[in-house]
Order: sequence, then C-alpha cells, then structure tokens
Amino acid sequence: MVFTPDQPLQRRLLALLDDNLKEDEVTATGLATLLSAPVSEVEAELRALARFGNLTRRTGMNGEARYSASPRRKLLGDMLVEAGHMTNTQLQEALAEQARTAERLGAILLDRGYVSKQILGKMLELQRGIPYVNLSTRGIDEHLVRSLPERVIMEHKVVPIARIEGEIHLAMLDPSDIMAIDIVRKYLGGRVRVFLITEGDFGWAVTKFFDVTRKVGESLLEVAVEDDEGEQAENAAVAVADTYDASPVVRVVNTIIRDAVRIGATDIHIEPEAEQTRVRVRIDGLLLDKAVLPRAVAEGVTSRLKVLAGMDIAERIRPQDGRILVNIESREYDLRIATVGTAFGERVALRLLSNRQVLVGLERLGLFPEQQEPLQSLLSRQHGMILVTGPTGSGKTTTLYASISHINDRVRNIMTIEDPIEYRLPGITQIPVREKSGITFGVGLRALLRQDPDVVMVGEIRDPETASIAVHAALTGHLVLTTLHTNNAAGALVRLLDMGVEPYLLTSSVLAVVGQRLIRVLCTACKGQYEARDTDLRILGLPIDTPLKLSAGSGCAECANLCYKGRTGAFELMVMTDPVRELVLSRKPAGAISEAAIADGMQTLRGAIIRKVLDGVTSIEELQRVMMVEVS
Ligand SMILES: [Zn+2]
Repeated sequence: MVFTPDQPLQRRLLALLDDNLKEDEVTATGLATLLSAPVSEVEAELRALARFGNLTRRTGMNGEARYSASPRRKLLGDMLVEAGHMTNTQLQEALAEQARTAERLGAILLDRGYVSKQILGKMLELQRGIPYVNLSTRGIDEHLVRSLPERVIMEHKVVPIARIEGEIHLAMLDPSDIMAIDIVRKYLGGRVRVFLITEGDFGWAVTKFFDVTRKVGESLLEVAVEDDEGEQAENAAVAVADTYDASPVVRVVNTIIRDAVRIGATDIHIEPEAEQTRVRVRIDGLLLDKAVLPRAVAEGVTSRLKVLAGMDIAERIRPQDGRILVNIESREYDLRIATVGTAFGERVALRLLSNRQVLVGLERLGLFPEQQEPLQSLLSRQHGMILVTGPTGSGKTTTLYASISHINDRVRNIMTIEDPIEYRLPGITQIPVREKSGITFGVGLRALLRQDPDVVMVGEIRDPETASIAVHAALTGHLVLTTLHTNNAAGALVRLLDMGVEPYLLTSSVLAVVGQRLIRVLCTACKGQYEARDTDLRILGLPIDTPLKLSAGSGCAECANLCYKGRTGAFELMVMTDPVRELVLSRKPAGAISEAAIADGMQTLRGAIIRKVLDGVTSIEELQRVMMVEVS
C-alpha cells in the first residue's frame, strides 16, 4: 500500500468547498468538472463529509444529491471572535497569513498565541460536534501509540489514546480524514471513535512519545548490533525527512534535526567532549541538553551531515561550512552547517532557517502601537536611513525582514546585501556577501547601488567604508535599512560618528534608530500571579508597598517545565528629532542623547520590558536576564 503524505482529492475538495460553499448548493458533477476528477470519487468524498457533519445532503429534483454547508458549521475564526476570545484584527492577520502559507487556521492562531489550545479545542468541538480532548492532561495508552507505525501518526496527525470496550479512541487533527480512520482500523482492529485535537496537542504528543533522547537511544542499540552501519551511512544520501527505513546513524541524524525543528529550536550544536559527544539545541535563545552520543556514533553523525552538506569528509581539522536543504512535514528548512576541529574531535554547529519565519509581520514583532505607527510611516519615506540595533540574537534581522516585507509593494526595486541570506524574500533581489571572492559589504553595496534600487537593506554596518556608502545612499534618494551591533539606539549614532561619518551627514540621513531585545514569553498554560515582593518593586523602580501583581510560570507539560514558550521583541524607537539632532551635531555621548530622547517621550528598552512584565507577558527574572546581556 502506498502512503501519500496527503490525499490530493480530499484536500482539494475541502479547499474548494471553503471557497464556494458559503451560500450555494453544490453537486458532485459540478465539483468533478472543477477538479477534473471522476464524479464517482468526488461523490464518495462528499458523502463522507456529509457523514461527518461537514455538509448537509439532500436529493434534488432530478434525483442527484445536492450538498450544502451544515448550518452548524460556522467559520472557526468568526466563532472565536464572536465569543470574545480574540479580536477581529487578529483574525484578519491570521487569515492573511493563511492565504500566504496555506496552513491550517488553528495552527496559525496557536502559533501567534491568539488563543490557547484549550479554547481552540472547545471551539472546534462546538463547530464540528466532535468532542475535544486535551492530550497533555489526559492519560494516553503508550502501548497503543506504539502499536501504530510512526509514519501513520505523523502523516495523518492522529494519536490513538485508549481502547475502551473494544473501541479505539482516536485523537485526530482532522476528523474528516476518512483514510486515516480506515488505516487505524486496519492496524489496531475494532471500531474507531473520533476525538478532536489541536496542533498544540499533536505537537505535545509527538514530543512526548517520539522524543529525540528516546529515539536516539533506540537507534543506538541498533548501531551496537550492526557494526558496519556507520560506513554505510556515509555513502547513503537519502532525504533527511525520510526517517522510517534508514540506517541507524541516518536515523539518529534525522531524529536530531526533526526534533529540533519540532520544538522550534534555532540551532543545533554537536560538541565533542573527552569521553562522549553532547547534542544541544538552542530554544528561545538558551541552550538545552538534548542527547549524549558515544564517540563512534557521533563521528558517523558528523560524517553524515558533512555528506549532506557537500563538505569534504576527510577534512576534520580545517573549518568548513555548507548548507543542507531539507523538507520536514512539508515545510522547507535551510540548514547552515559549520564545522571546526577541536581537541576532542569535530564540533558541528547547525543553524535552522525556515521560510516560515520570514513571514513575521511588523505587527507581530512586539512593538507597542505608539512605536509601530511612527515606524510604519518612516518606512514609507522615499529616502533616509533606519537603523536597527542590539546584541547578537536580539532579533534585528527579523525586524529588517518584517520591515522589508511591509514595504514590498512590487512597484519599488528592493535590494539587499546580506551575510548570510537568512531568508529568501519573494520579489526582492538579495546578494550574499562572499568574502572569498572579494564581495564584501562595501563592494556589494556599491554594485547594488548601480542597479537603480529604491530601497536598500544592508545586513550590517561593520566598517567605515560600508557606513559611508550607506549614509550617502540614504542622502541620494534611497531608503536604507540596516543593523548595527550596539547596546541601544543612541549607541548606534555614536558608533557611526566613531566610524568617521560626519555629524551633519548623520543627522540629515538617519530617520530613526530602533533598539531591541528578544524576551521569553511566559507559558500561558502554567502562568500564575503573585504579590510583588520588595525586591521586585525595587527592580521596577516602584515605591515599596505598592500593591502589585506580577506573573510567573510554574512549569508544565506544555512548556517542558521551562515556564516560557516563545519569544517577543521589546523595543525603543529613537526618532531623529531636533533635540537628538543638536546633541549629535555637537558630538555628545550616547547617555546624553538617550536622555534627550527620553525627555522627548521615547520609551526605553528597559521601560518596554518593564511594561511587558507589568502586562504579565514576561517575568521579572527575564527582565533581569535580558538587561544584563550587553554588547561588549
Ligand atoms: Zn507551562
């Protein structure tokens, strides 16, 4: 039996129905023409959908069945808005993202943190008339989960949770997936009773039952049995996503990558130590231990990665870099891999870039409305420079991409020079820095300016040459967006002066400087409130005895006991106002420039994070942690 990752006809049919079934009735014949599919197959799908309450079926005048949307099947988004669980603006944003990515609305809403999975589940239950089950709080029969092949679980997004009186209770993301029900019935036997789950639940179950540590452990047992597998793995070049039938080393590699993707890691580190090799992943900016590999296996894993990245396997000392394109659960990832020889062997760092992250809109970065509005209006200018600044890992690039996407109206020529290109943006010319071929930021930027651009993004200003060209570009009719590595907004202006930019050129080119940090967001599932302590009030700069509730996480299954889930930005926006301009012209220090901007109403970075602490978005500990990270 061939397992296709999705069922083309059913998917296409559902998409079509969503578009066309708002008011009118449809027939199998009509839809079959639209889909160029056999009428009998379309009819079978429609019947199945009717059986699951998605459609109402009635016999028409000529005896042909006519289908219409069930009156109780209201649109999910509208239901959530009507019930007051989210705003209409949020729904519109999510629908716009859905139009771009064709992902499920539920997944987008959870991703954006607009609704909790409990609320989403309850709404789906109301909409579909199928009971919702919260997997993370309900016991799951692990033996039953393991009796179903992993690929069935992954491809159909189903989790068998219990067998009760001969009936299989099956949790499904998509209860209208008839094929999945058939397959589960075939494997497990018995009648199937369907329950609804959300993407959040499915992700939770997969992490619990197919966790990297366990899988690596299982695969390692096989490595021990089949000694020569490592060699084989070096020569095999199968797709990374194809985990199921590969050799143990290949499976270890795939498991590590898939697991990292699933939990939303940004980097994977494979670090040799004296006796063993440690695998760590970076999530929300912090490293987390994931697995420990025996030396021999680690070497196999490293070789495998190098083969996939087209690197020289024999070279184990000189640093190398390469990239691997992988497709995981139908999303494309670009893995940047870099190796370096250490005292204990080769160390590997993998950076995970997905096209998905590009699509973070300006409105999702974490800007306060009074920061977002002026920034948007500055982005619509024809010329001038907007700088984004902060330490490494503070989300500067994400802000640049969001800004570029915001102004990408296809009537302006937008060009970038980047090192490296982290995300590919449609409709925009991106040039990578290639130091080896002599394409530095300066050289690339000069070449790019001869291509008649309207908007120019410079990945980073690191040297006086780039600074000077960028400033001149901004003065000669280009909108220039770029980043600098400084602590705060005022620091960026001083840094540019230090790079030899004349003060009067700086004040006439720079429109604004954005300073930013990324902060971890408290897990909504285990977040609770407590009475602020004296130390908290001191940190917040409030008088002792101020009655105040603050939020903190207690750790739960949703956040893997980390108390945080996801990150958001905190910003300061320094606009080139007259007071700021005067201080820059007289070359005053960063502190004085900041003070003038604050006096003029600028929200500081620290102030922005404090506001997020008071709003319960993050904790006081996170404020402390983030504000300690300073650019040296
Ligand atoms: Zn939690």
